This record gives sequence, structure tokens and C-alpha cells, in this order.
Amino acid sequence: MLFGYTVLDLFVAPKPIMAEVVALRLSLMVMPLLLLLAASYRQQWRSILHHIAGAACLCAALGAVTLVVRSRYQGLPLDYEGVLLVLMYMYGCGAMRLRTAIVCGTTTTIVYPLAEAWVGLPQDILVVRTMFIVTTNIIGIITAWVLDQEGRGNFLMARQLRGMAQRDYLTGLPNRRAFAERIDAVWQQARGEQRPLGIALMDVDWFKAYNDRYGHPAGDRVLRAVGRVLGAHARGPLDMVARHGGEEFVCVWYDATLAEVETTLAAIHADIASLGIEHAGSHVPGNRLTISIGLHYLYPQAGKPPTEALLRADQALYEAKASGRHTTVVTLAEPISQPPEEPDDEMPPEAVVVRGATD
Ligand code: GH3
Ligand code: MG
Ligand code: MG
Repeated sequence: MLFGYTVLDLFVAPKPIMAEVVALRLSLMVMPLLLLLAASYRQQWRSILHHIAGAACLCAALGAVTLVVRSRYQGLPLDYEGVLLVLMYMYGCGAMRLRTAIVCGTTTTIVYPLAEAWVGLPQDILVVRTMFIVTTNIIGIITAWVLDQEGRGNFLMARQLRGMAQRDYLTGLPNRRAFAERIDAVWQQARGEQRPLGIALMDVDWFKAYNDRYGHPAGDRVLRAVGRVLGAHARGPLDMVARHGGEEFVCVWYDATLAEVETTLAAIHADIASLGIEHAGSHVPGNRLTISIGLHYLYPQAGKPPTEALLRADQALYEAKASGRHTTVVTLAEPISQPPEEPDDEMPPEAVVVRGATD
């Protein structure tokens, strides 16, 4: 649009000041807004874009004021409408934060009448135009404030919905969807840094019988308690504990030795036992609530997806169940003592060592 006005200048501006008007228009209005447009495409300037927008819009507004007062006695039909347009642009689409827009808009609203008074605009006309400029500024502030509030509300709601979609409502732990999204990143990082992962699937023993005997709400309380125990055993930001579905949980330990993971799993069995939850329907001796664990411990390698490791952990869990429950079964991928020399797409067949760790 500004280019259009520049072309218009070429037709309507009197010859003596045409060059000056076009130069003012290009340097104070067109250039800053073009720079703003270019800056909006640069990712690294995103954080300061509102400052750039503020500077560009203020420059354009003061440029419009300068054009109006310069042309006042030169017969050029340029009037304060240009200033109004820039004000509307500031509040409507200037990519500015509300506070920046208010500062720029209000500065323009103050500067314009002062400049007009300075060049001697008759007082009655000055009052009317000042009213229009002030009113436009107030409408701009209210409109921008309403849009800002709506934007904040939408942002918070989107964040809340994202959080709800990723959390298990019962235990508060990340749900299976969140786990599936996060395991890929952790897997890639472990592969890049050649760190081991301990991936454990855990399942409450004889839980259907527990629900049948004590009721579903009591079963829910058990799941919450188990979730709290597991959550307490995550050590760092790359460890994960999630509800995998039903009465099954998944835990990942990043860069822990096998001995450390096994110690943690033993501690988990002990913590569950110390909850002291009676489970008369359990076939595990002691009639207390217990869980079974299948652990797969490995160095992630190229060409092997995390789903394969989860399958190994699931097979280990199956064996834990088959061997009487209330136990941990560990499957190891070769080579286990140290990371692979280099990523290899054609891995040798995986040697699996299975051992139970009943406590
Ligand atoms: P196993 O030792 O072989 O794991 O036997 P199990 O009874 O625990 O396994 P099964 O798969 O037969 O039963 C799982 C039960 O978990 C059935 C289901 O009602 C219960 N369950 C799944 N999700 C929830 C839940 O959110 N709350 C409650 N209270 N129970 C749940
Ligand atoms: Mg179960
Ligand atoms: Mg189950």
C-alpha cells in the first residue's frame, strides 16, 4: 500500500517538493516497514521482533506526521488521515506487544498536534483533528487489549489441553502417548552419546482379583500408590516413568549401570511391599500387593527402534509372570559390558541372557 502512496506522490505532489516527499516517504515509512517484514522471517530475531516492530511503526508514524506538516503550506493534499492509518496499523497488525503498541501510539498522538500547532494550523481545525487522533488511539488500545486477552486465554487453554492430553488422569504420571513421544528423543540421545538404557515394564500382580475383592475405587488407590512409588525412583531429567495402560507402568533409566538399575528395581519391590496393601486374592505367598517387572538393558543402536526394546521388556515381564510373579526378569542385549564400537545397521543376532531376581 505504501508503494501505492509513493506512486501517488509522483502524480499529486507539486514539482518543487516532489523529490523531498518521495524521499521522506521511502526513508521514513517504506524502508522501516520493509525491514520489519524482512525481520519477521528471521527465526533468530523472533525474540526481539516486537522491539523492531515498535521502532519501525514509530518511525512510520513520525514519517507520516513529518509529511503532513511539510506539505501543509505547499499545496500538497496530504492530511492527517495518513497518521490515522499508521495508528490503526500499529494496533492491528504491527506484531507488537500491547505495551509497545500503546507507547508508540500514544507518542504519535502527542507528537501530531504539537507539530501541527508548531506550523500554525488554525486552532479550531487543530482541536477537531486532535480529537480524531486521540479517539483513534483509544479505540486502538481497547481493540488491542481485547485481542491480547483473548490471545492469552487461548494460549493458556492450549497449554492446559496439551498437558491433559499427555497426563494420565488417575496417577498424574505421563500417559502412554507422552511416553511414546518422549522415548524416541531419549533413545536418539542415548545412541548419540553411547549411553545405556534400562527399560522396564511393570505390572501389578493379580489385579483383577484385587478389583473383584476390594472394588474398583480401591484398585484406583492402589494404582495411584504404585505410581507414586515408581515416580520416586526417577533420578534425572532423562529418566521416565509413565502409565503404560491399565495396571501396567513403564520406566526408563538413562545412563545407569545394570547394577544400579537392578538395585533400583529391588528397592521398588521393597517399597511396594512396605505399602503393606493386603491382597487376599493374590496367589503370591504373603497375600500382599506385589508387582512383576521385565527389564531390557541395552545400548541403543542404529537400525533398532525403541519398540523392539519394549518388546524385549514385555517378553521379560511375561517370563516374570510365568515364573510365579513378584519378581524381576532381566534380558540383556549384546554387547552389554561396553557401548558398540560404531553404529551398525546389520547387528549380529541378539544374545539374550535371562535371569530372575526374586526378592
Ligand atoms: P496378572 O498377575 O497376570 O497381571 O493378572 P491381573 O489380574 O493383574 O491381569 P488382568 O489383565 O487379568 O487384569 C488386569 C485388571 O486391571 C483388569 C482391569 O479391571 C484392571 N484395571 C485396568 N485399569 C484399571 C484402572 O484404571 N483402575 C482399576 N481399578 N482397575 C483397572
Ligand atoms: Mg496384572
Ligand atoms: Mg496387565
